[in-house]
Amino acid sequence: MEDLTARFEELSRLVPIPHPWDTTEYVARVAEYRGRPITLCPIDVGALSGNGCGTGSGLWIAREADDVIMYGADTEWHADHIIAHEIGHMLLGHGETASGPGDTGVDLLLSELMPSLSLESIRSVLGRRDYGSERERAAETFADLLLVEAMLPKRSPSRFRSTFFRNRHR
Ligand SMILES: [Zn+2]
Repeated sequence: MEDLTARFEELSRLVPIPHPWDTTEYVARVAEYRGRPITLCPIDVGALSGNGCGTGSGLWIAREADDVIMYGADTEWHADHIIAHEIGHMLLGHGETASGPGDTGVDLLLSELMPSLSLESIRSVLGRRDYGSERERAAETFADLLLVEAMLPKRSPSRFRSTFFRNRHR
């Protein structure tokens, strides 16, 4: 768990967390960092019927040219948490070993939810089959760390102060 905290610190330097928190802005920064657009796709609560990952309400679909995050949430906080969880998978590099299209029962569901989504263009779907695995726990911890950090007052001023005083002693 300590490793994950260190990894999170590193990632929050690479992809700065907006203060005040702004989900759209953060997602845009992640997209820029990864060099791939991210499309947020709100769906009905429960539309994934528990086939999503994490709390069962979100799904990351990697396509050839972009990434889609589907989320079914009844509150803004819940939406943020689902999105943060899926972004955790992205930033922690969980996409590479995800199941490919055609071997999950999610395919049929996807074509119902998003008819415009060409299944051929999907590189991988990270769904519930990963639930309970180490990657699920890691993504969940990432989401928790991110949202806690997002709600904290900006810490840079104190970092600036300590640097300032350290330098003065030289
Ligand atoms: Zn997950």
